[in-house]
Amino acid sequence: MVVIGAGPAGLLAAREAALRGCSVLVLEEHKEVGRPDHCAGLLSTSGLATLGLRPPSSVIQNHVKGARIHSPSGHSILIERGQREALVVDRALFDQWLAERATDAGAVVRVEAHVSRLLKRGRAVAGVRLRDGTEMPSRLVIDGEGSRGVLVREAGLLPVPKRNRLPAYQVEVRGANVDEEVVQMFYGRRVAPGFFAWIIPLGDGRARVGVAAKSRARQRLLWAMKHHPPMRTRLEQATIERGYGGVVLVGMPIPRTVTHGMLVVGDAAGIVKATTGGGVIIGGGAAIIAGRVATKATRSADLSLKTLAEYEHSWRALYIRDLRAMYVVQRLLAALTDRGMDELVASVDELGLVSVVRQSGDMDRQGRVIAQLLRNPKSYLAALRAIGHVNLAQL
Ligand SMILES: Cc1cc2nc3c(=O)[nH]c(=O)nc-3n(C[C@H](O)[C@H](O)[C@H](O)COP(=O)(O)OP(=O)(O)OC[C@H]3O[C@@H](n4cnc5c(N)ncnc54)[C@H](O)[C@@H]3O)c2cc1C
Repeated sequence: MVVIGAGPAGLLAAREAALRGCSVLVLEEHKEVGRPDHCAGLLSTSGLATLGLRPPSSVIQNHVKGARIHSPSGHSILIERGQREALVVDRALFDQWLAERATDAGAVVRVEAHVSRLLKRGRAVAGVRLRDGTEMPSRLVIDGEGSRGVLVREAGLLPVPKRNRLPAYQVEVRGANVDEEVVQMFYGRRVAPGFFAWIIPLGDGRARVGVAAKSRARQRLLWAMKHHPPMRTRLEQATIERGYGGVVLVGMPIPRTVTHGMLVVGDAAGIVKATTGGGVIIGGGAAIIAGRVATKATRSADLSLKTLAEYEHSWRALYIRDLRAMYVVQRLLAALTDRGMDELVASVDELGLVSVVRQSGDMDRQGRVIAQLLRNPKSYLAALRAIGHVNLAQL
């Protein structure tokens, strides 16, 4: 079996299949797994546990307890449960650790192997062709190429649409004045229209600072670090060590993640939390299912669409309600004017959000929190107030 891309999704699928006795080759275009990196590296401890992952200390940069949400006018609320909720990892080292686990299980990871085309037999995917012309026939391909989705389209599936891909820019700084256990999220049309900006502490005054927005992410980030008061006060002594761009996905998964001869995993399938763009945990969970289904299909020599579709049914059964709820919330937040966002943050106490999060908060599967909030009649009043500040054109 061939897996395209040595990101978390491809590697988790590869390990799962290799553990079950499948012969697996992972093809990664870059010289080194994990580089260049583009991620903020914030991963929930509960999510990692559900994937059976305990990253070694060499990969972990920090632990965080909660998040402070800043409204456009500078009001803020702290959401936390008094316990370590998440790890901040060095994503390059994290991916390399996942690659080691996959190779320990028997998979082969080949770097500098750029897949330029899919081989086809009729409409079915039948392997890959590398940029150097090498052809690699394979009865089954797992596509973990990330957010670009070029090969998804070539397979005849619909990739993540452009409108759901937000440009992002992130810098790593030294000398930040931040609470080392709290992630900061900044909302507002000037800072990050359509999404938010963040500061993720790495310990010892180091931090990852980023913006994803509808456009001009880099300019917005550099502006906000200097001029947006809640960011400026935390960053005025900071020096930038390096910066890098990326693409954050904010939509729903693609309509079909399975076709003849191919399963699509991770960002390529759009399996991400629309509220934060985070895809390592949920995308990884779905990818593990892909590894299992792929093994079952290849070992029983039943590569029918019906057998492969078990992947699609299983991951949707597990995650689609949460993904849908997070998508709706993201669309509403993106459409709120600054005034509406200010009102929403101001009504957090009234809605009892902090205690709902304490009871049933889950960083990855936010559907439960959203459903519980909707059971509170005050939510409708807050929503009605906020709806007066929705820009309908943005919905
Ligand atoms: C700025 C930013 C911050 C983020 N922060 C977080 C966060 O804090 N937490 C979180 O969970 N998620 C975060 N994400 C999202 C997260 O990075 C993705 O969801 C995750 O990396 C998806 O994993 P993947 O394996 O699907 O794809 P990727 O990690 O993108 O891996 C795809 C791999 O495939 C390779 N590849 C692509 N095309 C080919 C080809 N044709 N041939 C061979 N190899 C190929 C690529 O080189 C890459 O190594 C962030 C994203 C961005 C942009």
